[in-house]
Amino acid sequence: MRSLLPIVLVAATSFSQTQSVTQPGSAAPITIHADRILDGRGNVIAGGTVVVQGGKITRVDKAPTGTATYDLKGYTLMPGLIDAHSHLTWYFNREGRYHTRADGDTPVQSMLSTAANAYATLMAGFTTIQSPGSPEDKDLRDWIALGQIPGPRVLTSLNAFNSTRPTPDTLRAQVRQRKAEGADVIKIFASASIRDGGTQTLSDEQLKAICGEAKAQGLRTMVHAHSAASIKASVLAGCDQIEHGVYADEESLKLMSEHGVFFDPQICLVFRNYLDNRAKYDGIGNYNEAGFAAMEKAIPIATAGFTRAIHTPGLKVIFGTDAVAGAHGRNAEELVCRVQDGKQSPIDAITSATSLGAAALRMGDQIGSIAPGLQADLVAVKGDPTKDITAMRNVMFVMKGGRVYRNDK
Ligand SMILES: [Zn+2]
Repeated sequence: MRSLLPIVLVAATSFSQTQSVTQPGSAAPITIHADRILDGRGNVIAGGTVVVQGGKITRVDKAPTGTATYDLKGYTLMPGLIDAHSHLTWYFNREGRYHTRADGDTPVQSMLSTAANAYATLMAGFTTIQSPGSPEDKDLRDWIALGQIPGPRVLTSLNAFNSTRPTPDTLRAQVRQRKAEGADVIKIFASASIRDGGTQTLSDEQLKAICGEAKAQGLRTMVHAHSAASIKASVLAGCDQIEHGVYADEESLKLMSEHGVFFDPQICLVFRNYLDNRAKYDGIGNYNEAGFAAMEKAIPIATAGFTRAIHTPGLKVIFGTDAVAGAHGRNAEELVCRVQDGKQSPIDAITSATSLGAAALRMGDQIGSIAPGLQADLVAVKGDPTKDITAMRNVMFVMKGGRVYRNDK
C-alpha cells in the first residue's frame, strides 16, 4: 500500500492535465443510473444513482436522481471486482505453447502479452488484482497507475519465497530486501504444487521467519499451501492469507478462522483452464500425465472443500482465481462455479470479490465498496447477477478511478 498511494496520486495529476470532461480531475460530476446497485457489502439498492467526481464516489442515492451521464437501464452496477491471485505474466507464445524463459521470447515481447492480459482482465470487470511471484509486475503496476496502459490496479509480491535452503536470518533479510524493491505483499510457497502432492516444503521455523519479519515491516503475506499441515504451520507462523488449500480439513479451516486469516481457494477456472489447454502446457515441467491427472482429481475435492470453508463460522473466504495463461479475462468463471458447484449465494460470491477482497488487501477504505469517498471503480453487468450469477460474464461497463474504460451500451 505504501508504494501504491503515491502512484495513485501521480495518476490523478496526469489525468487532470490530459483527459476530457468526464475524466478524473474534472470538476463536472458523472451521474450513473442503474436498475440495481450492489454496494459490495451485501446490500442491494433498487433503481439507485451513483455520483462520481474527481475520480471518487461522492454520492449514492436510493432513487434515480439528476440527469444521467450513463443510464444503465437493464443493468446491475457494483464495485470493480478484485482478484486476489492472478498471474498476468503467464501467456501462450507464438507457437501456441505456454511461455517459459527458454522459448526465446524477449522481455519486450513478454511484456506485450502481459499488457494484453491486463487489458483483458480490466475489460472483464476486474479493476484490482494481486499478482504473486513476478518481478516484471512492478513496471506493469507503475505504468498502469500512470494511466499509460489500460489495466487493473496491480499489487505485486515481485519474486516469491520458494527455496527451502535459506536460514531464518537470511529469509528475514530477504523480506526487507523485497520491501525495499517495492513489493506490496510477500508470497510464500509453504507446500509443493498440487501436481506434486501439495505437502509442506518450508519448515515451521522458516515460515515464522518470513511471516514474522513481514509483519514487523508492515507487509502482508500470502501463502501457497495445499496440505492441512502446511496450512496449519502457516497460520501458526502468523501469515495473513492462505492460497489454494485443496487439502484443508475441518481443523485447518477452523484455525484460519480463529486467527482471522483470509482463505483464497479455487475450485474450477484454474484447473479447467489447464485441462482445456492441455496441449499448450503438456511436457513443460510438472505439466505431465501425472500432473494433469492430479488436477482433474482435485476439482471435486476443492469444490467440497470450498463448500466446507464457506460454512466455517467466521472464516473470511475471498475471491482469487490463480488465473494463468488462457484464463485472463475469464476470471468471473470462478464466480459462476463457486455459486453453481460450490453452493455459495450469488451475493456472497460478489462480496468475496469486492469488500472482503479489499479488506484482505487492507484497502477497504479505498476500493471494494460503493460508498462516498472511495475510488470510483464501478462495473455493470447485463441482468441481475443476484438471481443468475452467469450475468457476471456479461460485463458491459467498466470505470476505474472515475475513468471509463468500457461502455458497450
Ligand atoms: Zn498462483
